[in-house]
Amino acid sequence: MTTAPELTAEPTALPTSLVKPLFDRGVAGGAPSVPVFAPATGHKIGDLPQSSIADIERAFAVARHAQRDWAKVEVKTRTEIVRRFHDILLAEQNTILDIVQTETGKSRPHAFDEVADVALNSRYYATVAPKLLADRKPRGVLPVLTSVEVHNRPKGVVAVISPWNYPLALAASDALPALIAGNAVIARPDNQTALSALWAIDAAERAGLPRGLWQAVLGRGREIGGEVIARADYVDYTGSSATGRTIAQQAGERLIGYSLELGGKNPLLVLADADVSKAAKLAVRACFSSAGQLCESMERIYIDAAVYDQFVAEFVGNVKNMSLGGELDYSRDMGSLTFQRQLDTVTAHVDDAVAKGAKVLAGGRARPDLGQYFYEPTVLADVAPGMTVYREETFGPVVSVYKVDSDEDAVEAANDTAYGLNASVWSRDVDRAKAVAVRINAGSVNINEGFSAAWGSVDAPSGGLGISGQGRRHGPEGLLKYIDTQTVAVQRVLPIAPLPGMSEQMWAKTMTVVFGVMKTLRQK
Ligand code: NAD
Repeated sequence: MTTAPELTAEPTALPTSLVKPLFDRGVAGGAPSVPVFAPATGHKIGDLPQSSIADIERAFAVARHAQRDWAKVEVKTRTEIVRRFHDILLAEQNTILDIVQTETGKSRPHAFDEVADVALNSRYYATVAPKLLADRKPRGVLPVLTSVEVHNRPKGVVAVISPWNYPLALAASDALPALIAGNAVIARPDNQTALSALWAIDAAERAGLPRGLWQAVLGRGREIGGEVIARADYVDYTGSSATGRTIAQQAGERLIGYSLELGGKNPLLVLADADVSKAAKLAVRACFSSAGQLCESMERIYIDAAVYDQFVAEFVGNVKNMSLGGELDYSRDMGSLTFQRQLDTVTAHVDDAVAKGAKVLAGGRARPDLGQYFYEPTVLADVAPGMTVYREETFGPVVSVYKVDSDEDAVEAANDTAYGLNASVWSRDVDRAKAVAVRINAGSVNINEGFSAAWGSVDAPSGGLGISGQGRRHGPEGLLKYIDTQTVAVQRVLPIAPLPGMSEQMWAKTMTVVFGVMKTLRQK
């Protein structure tokens, strides 16, 4: 275990005039505040107020009141607010990039991924929502005589419980479609990274979102998570698979819907015909974005024996060339880990692997000279079953390389996991790569890309198989999960029952003929 250096009392790069009003936006104050520190520098960001049960109760009461009026607002008007939010986000990106970097310790390019994610989702849902949320008129049971309308009703108050690794993206990109669908949102951002979510709420209100519709309650998940779920009409949770089980139990107890975006142990496959240099270059981003604290990032690389030596040599060379640092600019390739707990896990996984015979090809050590939680991007070889890193998610800058003899072997190895979040396949032959992709048990597979092709294509659903999740974000699914449907059917002229004087038996015979005719006519 690495001991963190002494924290200093110097101010963070974020001005108090920004931090204090944002911290005060949380529905909190009833419980003692907690100090929050910037991971990369150790400087104190501020004292984050915490929510008592009374604070949570108040937040939900205000949200319910605001939601009743919001549900009556036209979808188009709601989407116009989200479009303005999109513009504020891009115009003020330097402020939110500073906040994200300061709270997480990540480098600026990886913080920008969050801005890009929220911009993509804002534009997408603002564009598609009016059509997706419009009432539908499906066919009635008796043509002409039965008419049907399907109305979409917001769930009510949606809880968005988000983690600390992508604090802007995971707080905002799930909340915005919920709001567009006519819900209120109670956010429970992680204490370490609450400022990013609070900034998003502030920006949305400046874009015209009525107050009270999107609020944050603040506190440790284990302490206030249950109180939030106890009052919500739907829960959207992002975090570990272990906590996901608890959330599912709590939601199940109340029979409310939920969506779980959980962990991964994602494989990257380099097939024999891959463009090896390109793969070795882009795999760096696929493995080390946000110092590997990205659910979609790659922790296992399976390389065909034909290109193993070349890929490993080039990949390791590229990893060794990465520059580490906490500067609030685009100068660094990778930043810091976010917590002592993360550093402990990374150190434990690497030390355990090395003790059991794994070889360190790059990295493999903490860098306290750069900051308390820095750890070098690490490549391991000779990793075997029995080592923790072989099967468990590290959620840090550690990737293992394995030699395989065929596409078949690569698929089998990739599927040797209970997770199923994301995968990546590299080949010059897209048809061959697609044939491999569809056999991998993962909710998304990127061909000749690590995660951004599928993740950034927000018109397509994103989510996990196996213990990586339940439900989807992105695509129509990412909006429609926040509504309930109501079917209203009108019967005209004739009842759906025997006509006067007709026996039940005659009615059954008549309907049997009608069913046959309808099938012949290929009616729905
Ligand atoms: P974690 O489950 O311990 O914590 C995640 C968040 O949940 C924290 O903010 C925590 O306060 C909160 N939490 C903990 N217990 C809770 C409870 N009982 N009720 C409500 N909230 C509770 O996970 P972690 O290790 O801090 O986060 C990293 C994990 O999140 C990794 O497994 C990663 O893969 C996963 N993740 C998944 C996605 C995705 O989209 N699939 C995205 C980001 C992170």
